[in-house]
Amino acid sequence: MRLLVVEDEAKLAEYLHKGLSENGHVVDVARDGIEGRRLATGGEYDLVLLDLMLPGVDGFGVLSALRAQSRYTPVLMLTARDKVEDRVRGLEQGADDYLVKPFAFSELLARVGALLRRGAPNGAQAVTQMRLADLEIDLVSRKATRAGQRLDLTAKEFKLLTLLLRRRGQILSRTTLAEQVWDMNFDSDTNVVEVAVRRLRAKLDDPFPRPLLHTVRGMGYVLEERDA
Ligand code: CA
Repeated sequence: MRLLVVEDEAKLAEYLHKGLSENGHVVDVARDGIEGRRLATGGEYDLVLLDLMLPGVDGFGVLSALRAQSRYTPVLMLTARDKVEDRVRGLEQGADDYLVKPFAFSELLARVGALLRRGAPNGAQAVTQMRLADLEIDLVSRKATRAGQRLDLTAKEFKLLTLLLRRRGQILSRTTLAEQVWDMNFDSDTNVVEVAVRRLRAKLDDPFPRPLLHTVRGMGYVLEERDA
């Protein structure tokens, strides 16, 4: 799933980014309320983790801007302030749940999972399944299948495939994949991407008549259905 973390404490932001990424999510981080508001209202996130005490605009400001839109995005508030009135205010403004810092990562994951499963009110559904041709991914159970056959993917392969599927039809460079899937920076050796793509392809495409993962020479990779 695609998550936004709005958190100004560097260590906590990094910890959340790492932990949630390792659990298969694509994570963006905003380090102040202005950036958080811009990303939350402009991006297609499945969930926003929102700190309350932020520079620029506070969490309530981000929340009210998000809730002023018609699109529903679940919000999990993170707060150091164990004050009943803050929680009540947040929930009244449309937050879906809250966690008081410090929290155990396992609890955070459980809350995130529950919110993603719960989906949106009023019949709108959070995206938990994606498909392309006979490929299906379930983001909650973390299962990938082709033609009904389960693909036995590692966590990184699942993350790679999820990213490619989310951006189907777009060419993703090795650098982009290295950054998004492995958190490696621009200068890193992108050979790791090539190796992972080869392994993914062996599971995703080799057993099936029509390949979905294509190499675009000199540019990167694209997941799409092409005519035979
Ligand atoms: Ca803060």
